[in-house]
Amino acid sequence: MNPQTVMEERRGGTRQRVLIVEDEADIRELMRYNLEREGFVVEEAGDGAQALEKIRRRVPDLLLLDLMLPGTPGLEICRQMRAGRDTANLPILVVTAKGTEVDKVLGLEMGADDYVVKPFSPREVVARVKALLRRANPNAETDAAGVYERGRLRIDFGTYQVFVEGKRRELALREFELLKFFVQHPMRVYTREQLLDMVWGRDTFVEPRTVDVHVRRLRQHIERDDANPELILTVRSVGYRFNPEALG
Ligand code: CA
Repeated sequence: MNPQTVMEERRGGTRQRVLIVEDEADIRELMRYNLEREGFVVEEAGDGAQALEKIRRRVPDLLLLDLMLPGTPGLEICRQMRAGRDTANLPILVVTAKGTEVDKVLGLEMGADDYVVKPFSPREVVARVKALLRRANPNAETDAAGVYERGRLRIDFGTYQVFVEGKRRELALREFELLKFFVQHPMRVYTREQLLDMVWGRDTFVEPRTVDVHVRRLRQHIERDDANPELILTVRSVGYRFNPEALG
């Protein structure tokens, strides 16, 4: 056990749990070694059924999921996680083979949060795991007074005020609500229809391209260069996703 791990245990056992779902024992071993070295508690499952059983007993903080599994495929595990009440927001880092369609993995069909392509470097996986866990809890970046502050962006949810680099921006109410939704649901891809449902409400009769208009205006407010957005990203032929990593 390295000094950092020992220190974190003394601090009171707030170490985060990663469940590795992978049928190749040597890859599991390699990932376990690298994650434990960084202070994570690691559990392993060699197939889908084992994974689902372990998750049922205790939901981990993050799922590292190989898509190519014997029995229940990774795709199906992803779907079940998103459909489950306790696991709908469980961060999932998917391990894919070369040639998998990325939009499909991150998109609605699977709802994974990020992916790495085999063969991967353990260091890269550890970095992705950490980044995912950081952004998995957007509330961690919103303080008790309901203020989100990250990099150049500051949002006061109580007073509906938005500041970019300290300057107040005048957002229309719907633009504010769209921004709020993005901030509270980082990285996941949403279609225009889903955004309409969740931000405008199910019963409004607005066209999906209304979302594009609002995204365009929002980009003018918060992007450094709205012609090359880095916060609200377009996912071609799917929809949009919010990337808070660009805020630093
Ligand atoms: Ca495999």
